Amino acid sequence: MARLGSWIESHPEGIYARPADAWIDPSQPKSKALITHGHSDHARGGHAAVLATAETLAIMEVRCGPQNGQALAYDESIRIGEVDVRFVPAGHVLGSAQIVLEHAGERVVVSGDYKRRPDPTCVCFVPVPCDIFITEATFGLPVFRHPDTGSEIDRLLHRLHSDPSRCVLVGAYALGKAQRIITELRARGHDDPIYFHGAVERLNQLYESFGVALGELRHAGSATKQEMAGQIVIAPPSALNDRWSRRLPDPVTAMASGWMRIRQRARQQNVELPLIISDHADWDELTATIRELAPTEVWITHGREEALKHWCMTHQIKACELNLVGYEDEDD
Ligand SMILES: [Zn+2]
Ligand SMILES: [Zn+2]
Repeated sequence: MARLGSWIESHPEGIYARPADAWIDPSQPKSKALITHGHSDHARGGHAAVLATAETLAIMEVRCGPQNGQALAYDESIRIGEVDVRFVPAGHVLGSAQIVLEHAGERVVVSGDYKRRPDPTCVCFVPVPCDIFITEATFGLPVFRHPDTGSEIDRLLHRLHSDPSRCVLVGAYALGKAQRIITELRARGHDDPIYFHGAVERLNQLYESFGVALGELRHAGSATKQEMAGQIVIAPPSALNDRWSRRLPDPVTAMASGWMRIRQRARQQNVELPLIISDHADWDELTATIRELAPTEVWITHGREEALKHWCMTHQIKACELNLVGYEDEDD
């Protein structure tokens, strides 16, 4: 009998489903690419044909220009070559999907990036039992246990209200994290205008066009220092320590990222208020998901593969590392 999943190949530039002649999240231009979500390390421009959710295609058009794209809704099935393909919510960012591939009586789930906790900006992760689960492991170490999101947002609001002469500048990845922080603040009753850096504007608009309500937003570039005192400003992490922030009233520098668990990272980036808010599964979510799906094999991609591989082995699950290149762990 053939090895399990022998029709799925792992190459440095991506995962290739041979009987579909299609690549998943390839880092090089391909004739047919299935894209899990819009983060730039997964969704690159230049493919001859792209299959993705409508949200992901819209994000790719904003970031990489026009796509020869076909949209697939969650749970809609399509046959590509000899493979049945289905996209299932991954709970990572707007439009993010796990890709379910079925061929020769075997089911393979490619998770892309995912998380299990609720996020008001996207559909929750749907578990699909499978023979092979290809998982990310960005936070694949037991030290990574993300706290409750609401309590991190409360820390942000407490800091904001403790000194109304200052603003709180929150560094948040422009796709996903920025919009999630805004909606989490709204859910905690924060109705004041939220100011934003120009780099997040188009993605804010895109989220709103897909029905994610963000409340009153204002461009920080056209506001005075006085207006922004006592308010929250959202900017991409790269803007935290650059000249741009000089226009703000004595900012308290915050950063929303799973990496803020590591104090040294917060110090390196001059972050005064580290907020541990992640769009990736933490250690407990990774291991709970593998238990729940009960796959025969786990293939592990970008991240700390070694610890998760060891965990799988001690739980009698065959596991291996895939050496894909080009995935970054900075999208959080
Ligand atoms: Zn991602
Ligand atoms: Zn990723």
